[in-house]
Amino acid sequence: MSEGIVLQNVTKFFAGSDRAAVSNLTLNVEPGEILALLGPSGCGKTTTLRLIAGFERPDAGSVDIADATVAAESTFVAPERRGVGMIFQEYALFPHLTVSKNIMFGLRSIPRRKRRDRLDELLELTGLTEFQNRYPYQLSGGQQQRVAMARALAPRPHVLLLDEPFSNLDTELRLQMRVEIRDLIKQLGTTAIIVTHDQQEAMTVADRMAVMLNGTVQQIDTPEVIYHYPANRAVARFVGQGTFVPARITGDLAESDLGQFEIQEHGPQDQVDLLIRPRDVSIEVDPDGVAVVTQRTFHGAETTYVIQLPCGVQLQSSQPSYVSIAPGTRVSVRCNRARLAAYGDDARVALTKPMSFGGMHVDSPFDIGNDTLHVAGSD
Ligand code: ADP
Ligand code: MG
Repeated sequence: MSEGIVLQNVTKFFAGSDRAAVSNLTLNVEPGEILALLGPSGCGKTTTLRLIAGFERPDAGSVDIADATVAAESTFVAPERRGVGMIFQEYALFPHLTVSKNIMFGLRSIPRRKRRDRLDELLELTGLTEFQNRYPYQLSGGQQQRVAMARALAPRPHVLLLDEPFSNLDTELRLQMRVEIRDLIKQLGTTAIIVTHDQQEAMTVADRMAVMLNGTVQQIDTPEVIYHYPANRAVARFVGQGTFVPARITGDLAESDLGQFEIQEHGPQDQVDLLIRPRDVSIEVDPDGVAVVTQRTFHGAETTYVIQLPCGVQLQSSQPSYVSIAPGTRVSVRCNRARLAAYGDDARVALTKPMSFGGMHVDSPFDIGNDTLHVAGSD
């Protein structure tokens, strides 16, 4: 049996608002896959999880879990019958119950005689055996989270839904728990959706991530493709840092302050914007250079510069910090052509080029020959 999740054209309105909290959302999670649902606060992430879990009913569209339709126009399966485990930001542990009793709560549906064995298995799996008789207030944040995981996993759910699970932890513990929870989910092979507004977190834990803005999924793909090939300007702005540099199209050349680029098959537009990440820009002191350093920020391993281009755009550049260039200095700028993506007026992907990360090839619908940029039509 496949244990994936499929949402088709799901829309949800809340009373009192004429804007959909979730709007025509289509999403699939493969069996055993961890999907990160990434988006800013208020974009509809929690509502999406609640629609999957059955705490909300969609106004339109359908939800399938493990090949069974659980919500559609004339179907609604109750939350407790969906095989969904859910973990909330605040863990929602029972303060008056021990670790064991909290986990036992997740075992109500299995025969009494089997509970103790399953409990021991879960305690072992989450490293909580020695803490089984403690109360939640006697545990660290990370241990409390493990209890919440064990309780959610207890009934062997088809799918696990985690809503901002790391946001109550301090930075160091958060980094550690990300890896721990990811390993645990992978070890069990459970299909999971992890909601977060933190892009680092999404990239660290996810097999694929879905970028959600204004109630709808803008792009769903591997973290690598989303970072390097944002599907539109909104995703490019939300994920990673970068600057848009305008380029004018004449014939088959796009001309910008960063040089000329050959382009192919562009639509009627005569202007595109090149998305440039700080790491892909290098600067060098040059009295004849086109740009001027306006800001320098030291971060330890690297220094970030802001440089003003002739077109007025303030471009960011990350450099190893053993070189230091003072604000006011004139510099020449080079950017890594292999890392460029570009966008037309209509906010769709307009041009980009093939790339590889440390030998790993990324399949992209925009793959073309090596030294040219590709501009898609604006259809
Ligand atoms: P996120 O989890 O991404 O921060 P939510 O799914 O919680 O976003 O909320 C999406 C939108 O729906 C927000 O505008 C929020 O105010 C609204 N919303 C969420 N839950 C309710 C509710 N029960 N009643 C009315 N509006 C709600
Ligand atoms: Mg939320």
